[in-house]
Amino acid sequence: MTGGTAALIVAAGRGARAGGGVPKQYRALAGRPVIAHTLAAFAAHPGVDRCLSVIHPDDAALFAAAAPGQDWVAGGATRAGSVRAGLAALAAEGAARVLIHDAARPLVSQALIARVLEALDHHAGAAPGLALSDALWRGAQGLVAGSVPRDDLWRAQTPQGFRLDAILAAHAGGDPKAADDVELARAAGLDVAIVTGDETNLKITLAEDFARAEQLMGARMDIRTGTGFDVHRFGPGNHVMLCGVAVPHGRGLQGHSDADVAMHAISDAIYGALAEGDIGQHFPPSDPQWKGAESHIFLSHATGLAAARGYAISNIDCTIICERPKVGPHAEAMRARLAAILGIGADRIGVKATTSERLGFTGREEGIAAMAAVTLVGR
Ligand code: MG
Repeated sequence: MTGGTAALIVAAGRGARAGGGVPKQYRALAGRPVIAHTLAAFAAHPGVDRCLSVIHPDDAALFAAAAPGQDWVAGGATRAGSVRAGLAALAAEGAARVLIHDAARPLVSQALIARVLEALDHHAGAAPGLALSDALWRGAQGLVAGSVPRDDLWRAQTPQGFRLDAILAAHAGGDPKAADDVELARAAGLDVAIVTGDETNLKITLAEDFARAEQLMGARMDIRTGTGFDVHRFGPGNHVMLCGVAVPHGRGLQGHSDADVAMHAISDAIYGALAEGDIGQHFPPSDPQWKGAESHIFLSHATGLAAARGYAISNIDCTIICERPKVGPHAEAMRARLAAILGIGADRIGVKATTSERLGFTGREEGIAAMAAVTLVGR
């Protein structure tokens, strides 16, 4: 990724104050782990080329379940040590700029990411802050002991953006007890611009923060559903492709591509949810380059289109309609294959089959039909 912008998601903390038995960044928020929301926000932003998470080595299994296929490096004993490990990995890849972000701020908006990136064009560092509106007191033994002028005070948020070489150098000689990366950057003499923060970009710290974050998330969640239906006829062959799995059969399915009728229905459901037509519109059958194509190309394209517009796949349900072959024994392999292509957990993918009671074209074993429904969640 030479020269690109990376998001470094800091997730190595133990987060015990939020309760729930696992570190807060892996607890469910509106149906998905907190860190999955955070990663999706950065993956969806066109100005971010790559996401890397820094995690506690004990959390490898939790991370793999929360963010299948996503990259991570092991963090250090302190927050600064963890950030340093992530920066070193990104420097080795040649990243030019980095956005350092708390995994526990899953509500970071696309507009806020854009503001930090924009300010980074003109400064070595940039970070969001919110001016204080409440009066500030100093307290002692439960009594107000004084007031603190708030005129120049800001509440610091993340993502904190930097030119990578500059923040790496700041970390190398910096105070390991620094509160955040801005403090280290300032100590190294870097200019850090303040961009307008976002009141909804809260950091989940306490158990009650989950309820508030869920409320905020629900208010801005954009949910879309799509459906897809496809049919392919039988012809000569010794297997059929269904959801990317070759199922042995006395006949094959005919089609311009590999005729994976189920994957076509799923791809069309995603295109449908986005109001982006269907497979035929994006991959015209008249174009010889798609002859015999493996259908994961279509599915990956549809999913990429969804991601580019800020949508994550929440779940998929696919029904395959045929008398034979028997789908049941292959259903788990099909779910695993789809999960790998889509980068989501297999627990979000349903694959089931039915016969049509020997009625109609599927009942006469002239071909296979498939239908699919998909839910996309955007914000
Ligand atoms: Mg088709």
